[in-house]
Amino acid sequence: MHSWTGPTVSVIPGTGEVPLIKDDISGELRPSVVGEQANLYVCGITPYDSTHLGHAFSYLAFDLLVRAWRDLGVTVRYAQGLTDIDDPLLERARATGRDWSKIASSQTALYKSDMAALRVIPPDSYRGVVESVPQIVTAVERMIDVGQAYRVPVPGSSAANLGDICADLAADPDFGSLSALSREAQDRLFAERGGDPDRPGKRHRLDPLLWRAARPGDPSWDGRTLGRGRPGWHIECAVFASNELEQPIDVLGGGKDLIFPHHEMSVSHSRALTGLEQPARLTMHTGMVHYDGQKMSKSLGNLVFVSDLLDRGVNPAALRLALISHHYREDWEWRGRELALAEARLSRWREVIGSVKPQGPSAEAITQIRSALANDLDTVAAVAAVDEWVRAAPLARERSPYAAADLRRAIDALLGIKLY
Ligand code: ZN
Repeated sequence: MHSWTGPTVSVIPGTGEVPLIKDDISGELRPSVVGEQANLYVCGITPYDSTHLGHAFSYLAFDLLVRAWRDLGVTVRYAQGLTDIDDPLLERARATGRDWSKIASSQTALYKSDMAALRVIPPDSYRGVVESVPQIVTAVERMIDVGQAYRVPVPGSSAANLGDICADLAADPDFGSLSALSREAQDRLFAERGGDPDRPGKRHRLDPLLWRAARPGDPSWDGRTLGRGRPGWHIECAVFASNELEQPIDVLGGGKDLIFPHHEMSVSHSRALTGLEQPARLTMHTGMVHYDGQKMSKSLGNLVFVSDLLDRGVNPAALRLALISHHYREDWEWRGRELALAEARLSRWREVIGSVKPQGPSAEAITQIRSALANDLDTVAAVAAVDEWVRAAPLARERSPYAAADLRRAIDALLGIKLY
């Protein structure tokens, strides 16, 4: 699937530092890349509502990582999935009387235009579930072959229905290691986030669906030996990450509400498919954006959409600056005033750094931005370094017409904000 047209990224003198990312479980800072190539997989949207600020905040964090890797000089391979068929999409179609595939295609197009407006570097591989059904079928067949999946009868179905297929989590001794949750918490989150713990016929309450046999009225695809049906949720990311990227991948990313069950399950499936104990060296999870006192989410309906803000004339660079003024792991509340602050900051930066007049030397500021980003993508410190340079610029004794140009390019390349 085509992603979106990426921004041109400025080249700046020198190279950046290896970005360290805080490990979710241990809390330790660890190198996000160990070789000459960095591989990133990030879960994509389920396209039944356009990009809200929670999505944008998350995808910007991974964009900053991609930019820091490029500045380091390593080759970046970035894959992202798109859940363009799943229960929430069908529920939205039923509730609105619209065709599910038309909802998916229109909202995916909106997401892509939002990402392009925010100057997010597109993934190298952008895969939708619908176009990937044959590869997902192959993966599920393989999981059955290696004894990590089993059939569950569908009550009331005909003899021709081969049943659903679930993963057998008991076959994976490392299941649970990514999220380190208690059994009670696993059970609660699984039920809250799309799981079916009480489904009769399963070997274990948490065993997730890999393949859902066709039901009357639901879209379905040829599943070869699996019978007609459609993929479960977690298997798609295991297939995309293991098919599109070299193994093990360096970073598996998404919002922190994906840690369990989604990433725990998809990493478990990846272990079955790749034979690797640790298919992702690091996981990186982004904080939640709240609005009206609660997490911004489709199910709660308290969403602020990127496209609505842009339609109202909000400058996408100011929106980007407002979002990256929070650290990626922070949970924070969108109050609207962030936007006014970001607009004021952006116009001050443009006035001082974007002008052609000679300014003070910028090498130190660029180093500070690089170091801040290398320290667990500390955008708060990076933005503060630019603010400090802008504050001190009129006082600088040493003047060079090139210094401000370098800083302009660094802010573009590393923070994704164009000042000219
Ligand atoms: Zn995913």
